[in-house]
Amino acid sequence: MYLKSLTLKGFKSFASSTTLQLEPGITCIVGPNGSGKSNVVDALAWVMGEQGAKSLRGGKMEDVIFAGTSGRPPLGRAEVQLTIDNSDGALPIDYAEVTISRTMFRNGGSDYAINGNNCRLLDVQELLSDSGIGREMHVIVGQGQLDQILHATPEDRRGFIEEAAGVLKHRKRKEKALRKLDSTDGNLNRLADLLSEIR
Ligand code: ATP
Repeated sequence: MYLKSLTLKGFKSFASSTTLQLEPGITCIVGPNGSGKSNVVDALAWVMGEQGAKSLRGGKMEDVIFAGTSGRPPLGRAEVQLTIDNSDGALPIDYAEVTISRTMFRNGGSDYAINGNNCRLLDVQELLSDSGIGREMHVIVGQGQLDQILHATPEDRRGFIEEAAGVLKHRKRKEKALRKLDSTDGNLNRLADLLSEIR
């Protein structure tokens, strides 16, 4: 699995439709200060379902929509499309290529689609969670975040690693199963009491 292309339209400084074609391996984006490098990373997080305006370096969610410049009026919506190569089947969907899209209008929430079919945020999150891209987006490490990770407690650091490795989901399921076992144990004890009363 690798990120194949990213298209931004009306997203932050990318007013016109801009597509970045990516190759397997490492991609570097270079450019002068303020040219939009971090906006590309914000677009990646946003299309994968990021819900926090702060994580996207804005005050409110609509700050992701192109706000206009001296020569160009603001736009009414932001759109990002991310195409993932899934020929190794890492994502639990029967397509060799998966395109996730997110669109947001100034006056409303976001619309999501997977391969052109409208879907919920939850569907996008579930599709990505098996690949280690969790809800918390720990796979995206922003400027300054590295310090946060280096200074995290061992427990928090383990949490980051577990989420990125896709272990967190199984830990949550294990906790749920243990709670069920606990309550079943309680029921069995109660049943044993009742049986001994009857006898
Ligand atoms: P640096 O190297 O300094 O970190 P960068 O290349 O990462 O810079 P970004 O932070 O991605 O740059 O881009 C900042 C630019 O994006 C600023 O010029 C800012 O005005 C512009 N920008 C951010 N949000 C919007 C928006 N909603 N509409 C228009 N322009 C925006």
